[in-house]
Amino acid sequence: MTDIRFYNTFSKKIETFTPIKPGKVKLYSCGPTVYSHPHIGNFRSFLMADLLKRFLKFKGFAVTHIMNITDVGHLLADAEEGADKLEEEARKQQKDPLEIAQIYIDSFMQASELLNMEPANSFPRATEHIDEMIKMVETLVEKGYAYVVGHNVYYDITKFERYGKLSGNTIDDLNAGARVEVNSEKRNHQDFALWKHDPMHLQQWDSPWGKGFPGWHIECSAMSMKYLGKSFDFHTGGEDNIFPHHECEIAQSEGATGKKWVNYWMHGRFLLFDGEKMSKSKGNLYTIQELIEKGFKKSAIRYALISSHYRQNYNFTFDGLKAAQQAVEKFQQCVTMLKEASGNDSGAVRESITGTAEQYLAEFDAALSDDLNISKALGACFDLIREVNKVGDLNSDEAKVLLETFAKIESVLGILYEDRSDIPEEIVALAEQRLAAKADKDWAAADRLRDEIAEKGYILEDVPGGKFRIKQK
Ligand SMILES: [Zn+2]
Repeated sequence: MTDIRFYNTFSKKIETFTPIKPGKVKLYSCGPTVYSHPHIGNFRSFLMADLLKRFLKFKGFAVTHIMNITDVGHLLADAEEGADKLEEEARKQQKDPLEIAQIYIDSFMQASELLNMEPANSFPRATEHIDEMIKMVETLVEKGYAYVVGHNVYYDITKFERYGKLSGNTIDDLNAGARVEVNSEKRNHQDFALWKHDPMHLQQWDSPWGKGFPGWHIECSAMSMKYLGKSFDFHTGGEDNIFPHHECEIAQSEGATGKKWVNYWMHGRFLLFDGEKMSKSKGNLYTIQELIEKGFKKSAIRYALISSHYRQNYNFTFDGLKAAQQAVEKFQQCVTMLKEASGNDSGAVRESITGTAEQYLAEFDAALSDDLNISKALGACFDLIREVNKVGDLNSDEAKVLLETFAKIESVLGILYEDRSDIPEEIVALAEQRLAAKADKDWAAADRLRDEIAEKGYILEDVPGGKFRIKQK
């Protein structure tokens, strides 16, 4: 097998991938903070993880993927100050923070499905893992990495030698650039809170330090280790996560265990909209649902968001989206032609056909093995399509060989799902009933409903943390 190589943000080098356990991959992705509808920029980063996961599966790895849901502790400035993003929204909408979380979890799950993202194995929520976070904070205090001031707990960054390694910051630089310290109870400017006391906060839990809530960074350390162990293979996120979030995650995790936590760090660069940074004030924070309402196809949005290299900024434009739509149609037309040809008479498979199939699949594989070089991989696909379109008289066996090749490619790209027929209301109603039966712990009814759905020709998949997905058999 050729080497698979990725750029590691930590070493700032392209490295050959070696899994911790042969044949297995453990992957953690920072998920959404559920206080607003996720936009295309967020999804570029989530889709990078989706492409990585699908490619690793294509290479034969069994992948365990965890994506957290942040529903407490993420402050407005991504730093130590400002209101909690969820709280702010809860106050604005006059709702409970958990109600706010549910609205945007549903929105995220819906958009993920529209983009044909493979669901993670689990979507753990911060508010459901407070005990694990408290335990980790206790360990950090015991080991001398963290200190308690009144009802607050802070991480002392000077105690962790490797602090700054991921982002390239040094403690001196950080201190020099810091604004006048507002919070004088911290030992160093950049010390960050692990546990916070705030009587006004809407979400509070008991802890050894009194009532409070966890910092944003600690949740990813605690939840990733709960589901993936003390060390795992990949951690992904957007480039804005590198500092402070991921730097702090490393300090916490490795401080607590004394072990190397993550082997490969991968970060997606920002998406620009028409050459400009995306922002609320510019009104260009489009959601997936909004683009679909504008008449764009969901598969074209997926294609556009995965079609440029993750370490380059991607300039999202409506023209680009139209071009993406055409690209998906080229794939679709070729596969439709092959499906029709698979009804032709059978016959011997010409060597030129197997040769073409093998050559371009190998090129596709080699390109993605080179730090997910998607442009080159898509180039190989279009070469394959061009070659296939040239052959006019395919027999059914040849069509099947080529369809298998396209199926392998599709397992990674995930773009041929536009025309999946809509699921009838009757089936959705049965799935809803089954969800209710599960909530009531009526397992017999849940099983019966699943069988009934299967008998009608549909497959029901549970989505952890979400609802379900229905596919036609
Ligand atoms: Zn995170």
